[in-house]
Parts: sequence; C-alpha cells; structure tokens
Amino acid sequence: HLDRIAAVDGDVHAFLHVDAEGALEAARAVDADIAAGTAPASPLAGVPLALKDVLTTKGVPTTCGSKTLEGWLPPYDATVTRRLREAGVPILGKTNMDEFAMGSSTENSAYGPTRNPWDLGRIPGGSGGGSSASLAAYEAPLAIGTDTGGSIRQPAAVTATVGVKPTYGGVSRYGLVAFSSSLDQAGPCGRTVLDAALLHEVIAGHDPMDATSVDAPVPAVVDAARQGARGDLSGVKVGVVREFSGEGYQGGVLRSFETAVAQLKELGAEVVEVSCPNFTYALPAYYLIAPSECSSNLARFDAMRYGLRVADDGSHSAEEVMSLTREEGFGAEVKRRVMLGTYALSSGYYDAYYGSAQKVRTLITRDFAAAFEQVDVLVSPTTPVTPFKLGEKVDDPLAMYLNDICSIPANLAGNAAMSVPSGLSEEDGLPVGLQIMAPALADDRLYRVGAAYE
Ligand code: GLN
Repeated sequence: HLDRIAAVDGDVHAFLHVDAEGALEAARAVDADIAAGTAPASPLAGVPLALKDVLTTKGVPTTCGSKTLEGWLPPYDATVTRRLREAGVPILGKTNMDEFAMGSSTENSAYGPTRNPWDLGRIPGGSGGGSSASLAAYEAPLAIGTDTGGSIRQPAAVTATVGVKPTYGGVSRYGLVAFSSSLDQAGPCGRTVLDAALLHEVIAGHDPMDATSVDAPVPAVVDAARQGARGDLSGVKVGVVREFSGEGYQGGVLRSFETAVAQLKELGAEVVEVSCPNFTYALPAYYLIAPSECSSNLARFDAMRYGLRVADDGSHSAEEVMSLTREEGFGAEVKRRVMLGTYALSSGYYDAYYGSAQKVRTLITRDFAAAFEQVDVLVSPTTPVTPFKLGEKVDDPLAMYLNDICSIPANLAGNAAMSVPSGLSEEDGLPVGLQIMAPALADDRLYRVGAAYE
C-alpha cells in the first residue's frame, strides 16, 4: 500500500501525511506476535488503514485540512486511533478533507483538493473525500471517516465504496476535533460491507472519555453482514422515502435507485413507500444547527493554544493576534459558518433561528420513529447527483449544501445509516450510492441489507 500511495497519490492526493515508519512499525509488531505464536489482537491485525485528518494521532500531524493547525502535533490519540493501534491496524497516514469537515467536495481543504479516482477531473465527495478516494484508488483497504451531515456516506457514494455513519454515540468522539458535537460521528469505510463491519467492531463501544458515548453493547454487525451475504432478505421490511426523489435528482440516479429497489424485492424484502414529511426541512435546520455549534467549537482556535499564530511581534494586543490569526488561518467556508452560527445564536435571534431548527429536529426524529414502526430500514439515493467536476460548485454554497439533502436527516435524529455502491449511472457512467437507514442502535440492520444488496 505504501508503494501504491507513492505511485498514485501525486494524482489522487488522498493523503495529507503518510506515516510510512509508523505503519511499518505497527505491521512488524503484528509479525512479531505471529512469530511468537501469540494470537493477533483482532481479525484486522496487520491490515492497513487511512485515517481522516480530523482524528488526533499522538505525535503525528493532525491538521483538519486547515492552515490553523499546520504543524500541530497532538499530545494524545483519539479513542478511535487508540483502538486501531490496540487491534494491530497499521495507520498509513492522514487523509485529506474539507477544512474542519465543512464541505461536500474536499475542495475546502487548505492543502488542495483530492481527486476522484474514477475521473480525476471530478470531486471525491466531502468532507471525507481523502478517505473514500484512498479506498477507490487501492491505496488503503480500510479507512475512517466522520459524518456530521453526510461526510462518510456522500464520499462513499461518489467513489463506489462503502461508508457507514454509526448510531450517534456508537463510536467515541474523544479526539475527534469537533465541528458540530451533537451531530459528529466517526465511522468505518471499506470496499465491501463485511470489511466495514469488521472495522466497525474495532472502533465502536462505550468510552467514558466521551460524555455522549452510548453505554450499550455494540450491535453484532459482523454477524449481520455474514447473514446478509447469504442473499436472503425475506422477513425484512424496507421503506422507500417518498420525499427523496423528483426535482434536483439526476435521472440516472433515480433509475439506479429503482433498480436497487427491484433487487431488494428479488432478495425477498417487502418494500413499501413511506412518507417522512419533515425531511424536507432537514437541510435548512442542519444549516442553522451545525454552524451554531461550529461557531462555539471553533472559538478554541484563539492563536494561543494550537498551531498558527501571526502578528506575534509584541506590537499587537492579544485580541489583534487572535483576530489576525483567525483571519489568516480559516478559509472562506469556515468563516461563513462561524458568522452564520454566531448570528443564529445571538440573543435577539436565538429563538427564531436556533430554537426553530431544534424543533424541526424533533419533528424529523418523530418522522423516523413513525417510519420505523412500519419498516425495518429506510432506503433512498445517498446523493441526488453523481460526482461533479472540480470547481463546478465552489462559488455556490447552496448548490454544494444540496449534496447532503438525503443524508442529513439521519444525523439530526442520531440514527445509523450506510451508503453502499449501487452501480454506475446509465446517464454518465459515474458511481451512484444506495443509502440504507436504520433506527438508533440497530446498525446491524444496515449490514444485513447492505451485504445482501452489494
Ligand atoms: N457537507 C456537509 C457540511 O458541509 C456535511 C459535512 C460533514 O458531514 N462533516 O456540513
């Protein structure tokens, strides 16, 4: 994999940092264990992985795709990182991403975009474009992403790989640099559903270091993937979300979705249409809640504690140093969100904006609850469109935001959701993803249906 990275990453740019030495050291430790007759710590011992650069790695650069954190060496490992190390998974390096995970194309990285291995002129999705591209380019067999509004699933869809957003609280957020704490969730990425399941079981589970970590057994996702792989979905009820079609969806995406639904029926699933009327308001609610939380979370980048500090020549006040550093360190999208969020949280507008968005969030959670009284899983396209050209939407934030129209409801409700490859669009020959959504703590259902379908 290191050779492959050396050969293709100049074109793909999935990695911001390659830690060849660290990866080889971890691999040698697994070899030594095997030579000594010690059973490997996990079925994934020795299987290398690409880690999104928003999770801290002790002594290894962690930039979150931002100039603000250039040169910062975290003094500690995220819980996800620690669990990977304990399982003997060599970490190949840190993958490119939209700055602080804000974006849908990886073009908001301060270090230049990642390119989609299927077509180097197109975006690999975002914010976790580097992780998914590293899989599609065969630079890594496994990767970790984070998903606040779709950043695992949308990149998976547009690179024809698998990506899972576990139930909120299912995977620890300790050491995941916060964007929107009530939505952020780390999860597994792979080229097959079983690979993702094996990785899910390594990283998931209760963590006292994260106050929102769920103290419940990890769903048996590996067993579910193996069961699904037998190709029998009889007894499984699948709901098609009525609201996720029509205007804004490419014909090729909708036809791929119809084919997917027909295949689920052939596998024995019972398919019904379900209405979730408030899903239509998920996008505007998300774009108030996520920027609000981000404006608070990003206050920590104050030029005193981490990374970049400019104008530190003794002639500027602390406030000036802070303001000049944030001016230089943050990109346009991050600034836009900090301003939107600060405005939405300001005392005169709090109820009108943030308060209303939280009410919509409750309505969306109720839509899910009502739907899951009728069906076991919900399905939809993962994204309304196939990967677009680099540069096509950079100047149009609203067009960019629309990429997450199908993925955001699961974040707002804290549910589990997966994107699994759904073939190539007959319109343009580019990858399409099928999204599967399950209730909180029922992540295993995603793996059963996903493995049967893939
Ligand atoms: N694209 C969405 C955004 O820009 C989601 C990002 C994410 O899931 N981290 O906020």
